[in-house]
Amino acid sequence: MDLKQEELALFIEGEWTKSMEMEPVFDKYTGETIACVSTCTKDDVRHAIASAKEAQNHAFAPYDRYRVLKEVSEQLKANQEEFALLLAAEVGKPIAEARGEVGRAVLTLEISAEEAKRIHGMGVPIEAAPDSPNRQAFTRRVPVGVIAAITPFNVPLNLVCHKVGPGLAAGNSVILKPAETTPLCALRLAELFRQAGLPKGRLNVLTGDGPSIGDWLLESEAVKMVTFTGSPKVGKLLREKAGLRKVALELGNNSATIVHADAHLDVAANLVAQKSFNNAGQVCISVQRVFVHETVFTPFLEKLVSSTEGLVVGDPKNEATQVGPMIAEKEAVRIESWVNEAVKEGAKVEVGGKRDGALFTPTILTNVKETMKVCSEEVFGPVVSVLPYSTEDEVIEKVNQSRYGLQAGLFTNSLSFAMKAAEQIEVGGLIVNDTSGYRVDQMPYGGVKQSGTGKEGPRYAIEEMTEERLVVLNL
Ligand code: NAD
Repeated sequence: MDLKQEELALFIEGEWTKSMEMEPVFDKYTGETIACVSTCTKDDVRHAIASAKEAQNHAFAPYDRYRVLKEVSEQLKANQEEFALLLAAEVGKPIAEARGEVGRAVLTLEISAEEAKRIHGMGVPIEAAPDSPNRQAFTRRVPVGVIAAITPFNVPLNLVCHKVGPGLAAGNSVILKPAETTPLCALRLAELFRQAGLPKGRLNVLTGDGPSIGDWLLESEAVKMVTFTGSPKVGKLLREKAGLRKVALELGNNSATIVHADAHLDVAANLVAQKSFNNAGQVCISVQRVFVHETVFTPFLEKLVSSTEGLVVGDPKNEATQVGPMIAEKEAVRIESWVNEAVKEGAKVEVGGKRDGALFTPTILTNVKETMKVCSEEVFGPVVSVLPYSTEDEVIEKVNQSRYGLQAGLFTNSLSFAMKAAEQIEVGGLIVNDTSGYRVDQMPYGGVKQSGTGKEGPRYAIEEMTEERLVVLNL
């Protein structure tokens, strides 16, 4: 699909509606304009909310939700190369990785379709209460209603599917606001939903300024829930504005992975190299802090450096490329300044550390202090710090010295250490014998501390996106 010069509309009430104002979307490697998207107005937001609310008055049975989601999953698969090229252009994601994201999005929608048929409540044994022998009770899971879904730039297809898929499967109407820099896949996906016969108003896609659209959506009492993936700063703001409404937040992390003395070092080094630099490190569970037992620190570092040196940096549309540009040059400049600051304070660059426009070479740092920004803040770039430790208790404490807690990785063959870590490391998920960066789409995924609240993964997101309603029968 050649999007050059194409002017893309908003998707409201099942139709495409062009706005007066348009904003360009750029290819993140070449800088060329690849499309223009509509800038949504307050009236457009009102229209979307009204259509989403109205859609709730018309039945959309679970089996029909299943059929639409399954059809979109199949159509996405049939058009996977077009979506992968779109991702490579709008995100700057290497084409091989972009294909991986499309494949995962196909599965996320397929799992959501299946889950649409499995939403159920449970029996509640109230007859066991002393004054209720003639009563019975059960719960039902009912849709929340209209959900505002706001998504980040880095995984703009699969993370959209993680909100739209379960949202629709649960019987809600979804108003989606994709990231300003990467809205194209979401718009293309909306067209697949239209073609699959999704009832009008069940999905609306609004492009434009995040803060304005966010405010306009949350001003309306008709919006019953906000599900957000993005930075902790915006997440906190949305929670404040949402008041007593439901909020699901998938936020940042400075993910840790531990390599213990008994780990398989080749496997660990390869996986760490891969999961530190995927999408140029712009992944919320990207490995950022690697704690290595002091007895294997040097051999592990050598292996990690050699796995990293071989990574091909450059044009994301080139089949061989493994690391593409960052989302914007200013982000690469920020990373450069954080690395320079760390070096000034004593850190050593083992490999990488070079910037060329928006490209930043995969970088490994040692002699890092935990107070340095590259360690204590979320880097969200291709920079990993490798630090030594000596005891299990010490490393658990170091991992927990973070205001984040999304996922952590632990390479060890010691069952007792793995179980101790599972008990004591404060995260939403601990991945044993892989890095913090492991994720498949059916698993419960979400963080603690400033990494957010609530879980994604269709089955778990459906729980977030439904209310439990109790029905008591007086017999
Ligand atoms: P961001 O917070 O800048 O933007 C995310 C979305 O929020 C965008 O659509 C943006 O337009 C919108 N937005 C911005 N200001 C808003 C406001 N005031 N009100 C309403 N909406 C607003 O994040 P980003 O730079 O796109 O993404 C990077 C962040 O996302 C990182 O912190 C990363 O860790 C996080 N992330 C988390 C997960 C997860 O699952 N936990 C996954 C991917 C990314």
